[in-house]
Amino acid sequence: MDKQEIVKRAHRFSKPFRVTGEGTFRLGDIDPGDTLDLDSEDKPRAKEALAAGIEALAELQDMLYAQDRWAVLLVFQAMDAAGKDGTIKHVMSGVNPQGCQVSSFKAPSTEDLDHDYLWRCMKHLPERGRIGIFNRSYYEETLVVRVHRELLEKQSLPRELLTKDIWKERFQDIRSFERYLTRNGVVIRKFFLHVSKAEQKRRFLERLEKPDKNWKFSASDIKERACWNDYMKAYEDMIRNTATKHAPWYVVPADNKWFTRIAVAAAVIEALDGLDLHYPKVDEAKRKELAAARRLLLGARPRGGRRSS
Ligand code: ATP
Ligand code: MG
Repeated sequence: MDKQEIVKRAHRFSKPFRVTGEGTFRLGDIDPGDTLDLDSEDKPRAKEALAAGIEALAELQDMLYAQDRWAVLLVFQAMDAAGKDGTIKHVMSGVNPQGCQVSSFKAPSTEDLDHDYLWRCMKHLPERGRIGIFNRSYYEETLVVRVHRELLEKQSLPRELLTKDIWKERFQDIRSFERYLTRNGVVIRKFFLHVSKAEQKRRFLERLEKPDKNWKFSASDIKERACWNDYMKAYEDMIRNTATKHAPWYVVPADNKWFTRIAVAAAVIEALDGLDLHYPKVDEAKRKELAAARRLLLGARPRGGRRSS
């Protein structure tokens, strides 16, 4: 499949799930079981398309790295067992590990809580030329912290700052932060892997029943599941308030893992393709340097020097 065809397909698989802040977003409008016009019989073809996409992604990342101008930040948010880890593993399987940094954000440490909430994430922002992946992120500050209000109390913020406007303010600050990053050459794409409550139950049961999956289960998963509706409300409000053209959310159906991977890979390919990446151009001085190095390697006598062996 040629690159143009891959990019065209990427557009087809990512556009339906992109949220940019125009119009009113409703989580209920996205079906977690959606696979566009593909059904399970198309799975083998879909896997081939994903493999081609992963190859294209590797090429684009190589240029991103060589060019060393843009950085890419991919943020992943989801309920437990929605497939964040597997999606990251598959979509990034072809890229050079040197050009990719994954950071997972769990409950904050005492040191983290002694700072503003963006502090721990800022330390992990990708360098130019790299793709940074946030497995959970500062968005947890508008999700788990909103659903479990007691976490906010634990943050030792000055009391007068804990007003009813705190979520609105956090959205505002996150929007400003992301605009700042964008203006500094960090391209941001955010993914909410949207799994249904029924599919989560099926995956939890699998984790409980299969010994090689037992390790994936944590007692807190059931506790969070009990707050499902509060989480859905928090996710919807968060996406409504932080989806922008420059830092869009992709609300990706996550009941079928093979489809989730295609849709995420497609969005990343599209983001990279939009940067018009190319290998750095060789100027006249560099060309001379390369020619001299070539002569030396081939054993020619450098001007005024000894013949190398
Ligand atoms: P898995 O899919 O393996 O369960 P995970 O991302 O859920 O991966 P866990 O170790 O299970 O990883 O959970 C991390 C927990 O940390 C989540 O429940 C998340 O809500 C919580 N967390 C992340 N950021 C914050 C935060 N800023 N404040 C409080 N809790 C947070
Ligand atoms: Mg978990």
